[in-house]
Amino acid sequence: MTGNCAVLQQQTPLQVLKEVFGYSDFRDEQEAIINQLLAGHDAMVLMPTGGGKSLCFQIPSLIRLGTGIVLSPLIALMQDQVAALKIQGVAVEFLNSSLSFPEVQDIEARLLRGELDMLYVAPERLCQERMLSLLHQIDIALFAIDEAHCVSQWGHDFRPEYIQLSLLHEQFPDVPRIALTATADKSTRNEIIQRLDLVNARLFISSFDRPNIRYRITQKNNARKQLLNFITTEHASDAGIVYCLSRKKVDETARWLNDQGIEALPYHAGLSAQVRKQHQDQFIRGDGVVIVATVAFGMGIDKPDVRYVAHLDLPKSLESYYQETGRAGRDGLPADAWMVYGLQDVIMLRQMLAGSEAEEHIKRLEQRKLEAMLGFCEVISCRRRSLLGYFGEQQEDDCGNCDNCLEPVESWEGTTEARKALSCVFRTGQRFGVSYLIDVLRGKRTSRIEQFLHDQVSTFSIGQELSEVQWRSVFRQLIARGLVAVDMEGFGSLRLTEESRPVLRGEEQIYFRKDIIHKTERKKSGNRKRNREYDTSGANQPLWDALRARRTELAQEQGVPAYIIFHDATLMEMMEYHPKTLHEFAQINGVGASKLEKYADDFLEVLNSF
Ligand code: ADP
Ligand code: ZN
Repeated sequence: MTGNCAVLQQQTPLQVLKEVFGYSDFRDEQEAIINQLLAGHDAMVLMPTGGGKSLCFQIPSLIRLGTGIVLSPLIALMQDQVAALKIQGVAVEFLNSSLSFPEVQDIEARLLRGELDMLYVAPERLCQERMLSLLHQIDIALFAIDEAHCVSQWGHDFRPEYIQLSLLHEQFPDVPRIALTATADKSTRNEIIQRLDLVNARLFISSFDRPNIRYRITQKNNARKQLLNFITTEHASDAGIVYCLSRKKVDETARWLNDQGIEALPYHAGLSAQVRKQHQDQFIRGDGVVIVATVAFGMGIDKPDVRYVAHLDLPKSLESYYQETGRAGRDGLPADAWMVYGLQDVIMLRQMLAGSEAEEHIKRLEQRKLEAMLGFCEVISCRRRSLLGYFGEQQEDDCGNCDNCLEPVESWEGTTEARKALSCVFRTGQRFGVSYLIDVLRGKRTSRIEQFLHDQVSTFSIGQELSEVQWRSVFRQLIARGLVAVDMEGFGSLRLTEESRPVLRGEEQIYFRKDIIHKTERKKSGNRKRNREYDTSGANQPLWDALRARRTELAQEQGVPAYIIFHDATLMEMMEYHPKTLHEFAQINGVGASKLEKYADDFLEVLNSF
């Protein structure tokens, strides 16, 4: 392959967008960012997952003189991006530890001859003398620092090699740099700017809203069954991620799903690197595989057609929740963030926090994050507004695409019930857990209660008006709001705190969320439709299956994931417009010049046979 450089240098960003990538319009800030780099200046880009960050450095790399150098932390991510670009006709390679020495030499030679539009490099390699001396001999279009939050020492993804990237500015002061991240919080942003010396970079901040993701949090009663029901009724043949807290639960859940006829693979740090890689590959390349994982899974997963992320356990913070759910729906088509949540989750997280051995100031920070997470679970207004509000983004209107918007939640005034609950905690000596307390409130004469003489306390039997389920809901909400504390020994006994006082004295009005219990299955067809921009079921199903089958064949032939050939959205456009000629096929979004030449005949054949 030879570089496009000479031809593309004459073109505008919009022309390159059409010609190479097959898209008709830029999204939001993409064009402004590209122009910033074309003018030779630096940019710092904060854009959510799926927002379209890659084009912001790919297009200027093609237009500017020289090679665009992209720093990317993960080998798998690099390989997929490079494979996708090659299919689009871009002269691009990567340098990382997966290559043999002769392969490296070949790529270096082509780099020196100016044949590459772009080169992806692992940061640790960039900082080696050999690489730096090569770079000093060539024209460089720009430096792109992808996943720039890896420079943050406080983040989960910290990579020490990233710190050294400040040398780019020192050694190549005239080459424009662009740093990109999907991490929303301010302290990380400031750390990136400081460490990479980007003080003069123009800041581009997009909205972190992911409008195609529907947020839903359901009361847990039988988590596995609820999950199965969710998958079979709404996402039967879709790819999805199921998150669990422990390795054991990951293994069990994956096994159970398989027993129920759903292809599911486990992923956690306890599996060998080889098995992990194999499962990850199957998930990325397969069509409709479910991965059950701990939070160890996800960073660097670029799969655009993940249709749902399900949480069987609560994340520790809204940052984690946002990041994990954000792996759904990168392609912009409808996707679900689905979670089950219950009393036990609240108790467990509170205990984990109480037992934490972190320093006091870190504990306080963890505490605040947990409060925000629990508040988000219990909120009765629009979830999206609450989520974005946490990241400092104010939304004018309710979103209409979260459970609370779609099925408004009622609240009820429970000042008296809250007092009864707390007073029962006090009267029984602050040594018992929720189940015991509910038995006392509801006047059950169990042998334990009689043994402790708690059938004689004043709160015995004063809570007949609520069912056991309703009392559990009351306790869950009291614990979630910190109006009563959980001990850390692991028995889950409750005790009063400063915050309990005004409630006990009846000085504070308390409102509770009225939990919605879903008993019935949803209708299949209605949901099915929402999950596709274009209806691919019913009479359309055979064509959809045929297009997907052809895509799978081509992907296997070329050893790339199916979505690299064409995205689902592109296949849907083919169904909608049903192109008959090459010219018509070229109009489909996602069909650039190179893919037109490579694949048009294959797909036209399928289309014309219908
Ligand atoms: P990010 O890196 O921000 O998560 P990507 O760069 O992977 O996002 O882009 C997400 C998806 O959106 C990709 O499938 C990409 O092809 C698509 N995309 C990006 N920009 C456009 C555009 N202007 N028009 C149509 N699709 C786009
Ligand atoms: Zn909403």
